[in-house]
Order: sequence, then structure tokens, then C-alpha cells
Amino acid sequence: MVHCWICGSEKLRLVKPANFSEHLTSNSFAITDSAYGVTAAIYQCASCEFLQCSDLAEVLPFYEKLVDSSYEAGREQRSSQARKVLEVAQELQPSGRLLDIGAGSGMLVEQAIQMGYRAEGIEPSEWLQQLAQRRNLPVHLGTFPHPAVPRQFDIITLIDVIEHVSDPLTLLRNIATSLSDNGIAMVVTPDVGSIAARILGWKWWHFRVAHIGYFNKRSLLSALNRAGMRPVIICRPGWVFTIDYLYARARRYLPKFLRIGLPSFLRKIVIPVNFRDSWLIGCRRRTQKAP
Ligand SMILES: [Zn+2]
Repeated sequence: MVHCWICGSEKLRLVKPANFSEHLTSNSFAITDSAYGVTAAIYQCASCEFLQCSDLAEVLPFYEKLVDSSYEAGREQRSSQARKVLEVAQELQPSGRLLDIGAGSGMLVEQAIQMGYRAEGIEPSEWLQQLAQRRNLPVHLGTFPHPAVPRQFDIITLIDVIEHVSDPLTLLRNIATSLSDNGIAMVVTPDVGSIAARILGWKWWHFRVAHIGYFNKRSLLSALNRAGMRPVIICRPGWVFTIDYLYARARRYLPKFLRIGLPSFLRKIVIPVNFRDSWLIGCRRRTQKAP
């Protein structure tokens, strides 16, 4: 019997059948994948509203072999996104040890070091971890918990990672127990209850093969609570995008006759955007464990 990955309920209902045609490979899990609306079968929990792809739970091997050459092309914009999250964290925890889980090529770690944190990361993709290593950024190969990484941090960041794992609750519990007394976890994930998600339905850009868990505010808060954490800040993180990236994203929602090319001088312009379709929740460990 399949259980909800958050609350353990067996009351799961199929809400979207799988619609990928080809055999899944690491490429299907590319960070820059733009096959929006293509997913494994999605089941909704009747108790906590969490959506999960129960049939696609074994995804780690895909990430270990992941190579995504377009990812580095967006380094500047991704670094400035990381910095925005860190600026929120800085208000709550201005210094100390920081761990970034799912660190990619170390963009957030690099920003955190520049801001004065003793930062390190963990990344399962060998290719991304090597990119970090070439930049002399302390990113360990593997998953969390990691034997080379201590279990005491003042900030742990989990940015657009929790929707990729099949045991999100264990991951959050491990984070909670690895926080220092006043430590803070920063969790960012798409919000399936957002207006953008409701308007676009199953075509929403966050519905993609790599995302195997989908939270709304209720299920995310419930997961954090069960993991022994309490929120201290909840906000909608804004991102920055190049016009090129935004247009590529918007194109697939346009009728064919409107899909014209963009003049090249516009393409690389970077603009701040907030679709208000993700949550950023900063939380601290509760002294008392959840019942
Ligand atoms: Zn549930």
C-alpha cells in the first residue's frame, strides 16, 4: 500500500495520469527542462492535500548522472536569486555555519561565503559537484546527511529541492536535528495552490518530470511541523530572469502565430519577476518534538 509521503495517509487519489512518452533518462531531470506539464502519475492525499508521484520514487540515480550544460549559462541570474534568499536569511541569522543542500555548482555557497558565512554544500550530481570544485567551492558529492559534513549548522538552505525527493519528511527531520539552537532552515518550493498554478492548471511550468512532490501552504506547513520545526517567516520569493528565459517560458502558452523571435539586444536583459507561485519559509527547530 502506498502512503502519503507527508502524513502517512493511505487515502491517495489519482488526479493526473502520467504523460511522458519516452524512456526516462538523466536528461528528463535537467534543471533547465522546459517540458512543462509532463509528469509521472500524480496522486493527491485526501488528508493533507500533498500531491506526489508515488510511482517515481527512485530518482537519485538520475541526479547522480545529471549533466545540464544550460544550467551554467544562467549562473548570473541564479546567483542573484541565491543572494535574495540569503538576504532574507541574514535578517534572522547574520553569521555562522551554512549548509546548502542540493547545492548544484555552488552558486549559493559562493554568495554565502561572500556574505561572510562559513558555507558548504552537498550535491548528488557528479558533474555539478566537479564544476563547484573547479571554482574551489566547498561542495561535497552525495546526499544529506553526509559523512564529511557535521550535524550542526546555523543556516541550512533547501532551495527548490524538496519537490525532487521521495521522502521529504525524513529530509526535513534530518535538517531539524542538524540546526544549532538558534539555527534557521530556509525552504523554497513551488506552491501548487498559487494563483498561477490554478490559472495554468496542469500546464503550470512547475509540473515537470523532475518534480515528484507538490506542496501548497497547508501541506508544507504540516510537513515542517511534523519535522519539528516552526515557521518564523513566510514570503513569496522573487526571482530574476533574462528576457530570453521568460520569453521561452511564455512562448509555449501562446498560439503558434504569435511565437515570433526576439531581437537579440533584448535577450540578455535581466529583470526581477515575482510570479508569487513559490513559498519561502524560514523556520527554527521547536524545542519540543511534534507528537
Ligand atoms: Zn497526506
